[in-house]
Amino acid sequence: MTLPVRDAYPLLLGRPSYGMMEDAPDRFIAPGCTLCREGAKLVLFVTGRCDRDCWYCPLSTERKGADRSFANDRVVVSEEDLLAEARTMSALGTGVTGGDPLLEPERVVRFCRALKTAFGPGHQIHLYTGRAPSRDELQPLVGLVDELRLHPPHEDWERICETDYPRAIREARTLGFAIGVEVPALPGIERLAPLLPLVDFFNINELEWGEANADGMRERGLSLARPVGNAIEGCLEWAAPLLDDPRVRFCTSGFKDSVQLRQRLVRIARNTARTFDECTEDGTVVYGRLRPTGPIGDAVAALGLEEDEYAVEEDGLELAWWRLAEGRDAVAGDKAVVERYPNRGMVVEVTPL
Ligand code: SF4
Repeated sequence: MTLPVRDAYPLLLGRPSYGMMEDAPDRFIAPGCTLCREGAKLVLFVTGRCDRDCWYCPLSTERKGADRSFANDRVVVSEEDLLAEARTMSALGTGVTGGDPLLEPERVVRFCRALKTAFGPGHQIHLYTGRAPSRDELQPLVGLVDELRLHPPHEDWERICETDYPRAIREARTLGFAIGVEVPALPGIERLAPLLPLVDFFNINELEWGEANADGMRERGLSLARPVGNAIEGCLEWAAPLLDDPRVRFCTSGFKDSVQLRQRLVRIARNTARTFDECTEDGTVVYGRLRPTGPIGDAVAALGLEEDEYAVEEDGLELAWWRLAEGRDAVAGDKAVVERYPNRGMVVEVTPL
């Protein structure tokens, strides 16, 4: 029996989870995207090195070209660093990115093996690359990477059928990977339509203005779509010719910030909060901070705090914000409610008490 290509995917891949989106039942969604929406995907940035030079590259000047690895925002040298960050957010999967991670294939294998060994084969891993990898490059990733996302650079779009990408897609499929394309929305994206019948999914990311690509954007007369955010005007119109295909998914820059990132922060906040921290729906933590005029021990006694109800940090005495509010007249010093990102992240707001 010959199945239509789309219906054959779960059988070819042996992954019944390869499914439709709940909020858009006529659309396919890559398993990696499902976890990303839940904020459950660790971002493993393997290296800032890349042999492409895309004018729209979203990398920051700090990361671009530098051969350093990060798990979310944590610098990673060893497997232990990587696993510690994954545990901090209770990661259910990992997105491997860069730069081009395939410029450091041994590092990719080492890190992915550590993740699969620690969290089991169900820890879903997708890998993004600007290359059209050969069979020899893909072979070591079998069993470690579940899903491949190819990014043919813009300069190749008008001759995509003559490039190595169709061959790479077919080879990835025969090796058992879920295979898709992931590209930013740019003028001429409809030229990638010949790849649609070959892939399981096709993700289009809203193009974003960044510090490193600002000159390229200006040179091409591009501008921001809205006063708030980084999205570029015109993306939906460029993507429109492809959007009727159920494999195609358009990911807005607002969605990345307001859903993916926030959900990830919520997970980290819940996992790292102290007994007295309050976690917010925005993925921040809130606590009270006292810089007492006298000894800290006296302030602890005056507020009637048990051992697990406070912490002494460089910044002063930290405790539940409401305990400090209730006891504010019992202690002298600088008092404030602090809201910040988890794990001693950036301070969002300090409200004097
Ligand atoms: S392939 Fe990706 S990382 Fe490399 S230059 Fe292009 S956009 Fe940047």
